Amino acid sequence: MSETLFTKIINREIPADIIYEDDLSLAFRDINPQAPVHFLVIPKQAIATINDIAESEREIVGHLYLVAAKLAKSMGFADDGYRTVMNCNEHGGQTVFHLHLHVLAGKPMGWPPYTDKLKV
Ligand code: AMP
Repeated sequence: MSETLFTKIINREIPADIIYEDDLSLAFRDINPQAPVHFLVIPKQAIATINDIAESEREIVGHLYLVAAKLAKSMGFADDGYRTVMNCNEHGGQTVFHLHLHVLAGKPMGWPPYTDKLKV
C-alpha cells in the first residue's frame, strides 16, 4: 500500500503528540479532537482498511484494543468509560488509509454516534 501520513508519524518524519509506543503499535493524540480525550492507536505495520486485515494480522489488531484499555487505565478514564471507533472506507468516514483505532473519552457520548447523511 502507499505510504500515508501515519507512516511519517511512525518514522518521526512529521510531528505528533505521541503518548505510547511499543513494538507493534503507536498511540498519539488526534489533531482534531472530537472529545476531551481523543487519541489514535495504530499498528506500525501498514494495513489500509479493516477490509485488508489478513488472518495473520489478527494479533496486531487485537493488540490495538489492549493498548487502548491499558491507556484508558493509566490515563484514568477506564472506569468512567470511553468509545473506540474504527472507520472503514467512504461510508465509514475513513480519511487516512492506515488502520487506526479512535479512542474518545472524557464526557458521556450519545448514541447513535453519527449524523445521518441519508435517511435509512
Ligand atoms: P478517519 O477519519 O477515521 O480516517 O480518522 C483520521 C483521523 O486522523 C482524524 O480524526 C484526523 O483528525 C486525524 N489526523 C489527521 N492528521 C493527523 C495528524 N497529523 N496528527 C494527528 N491526527 C491526525
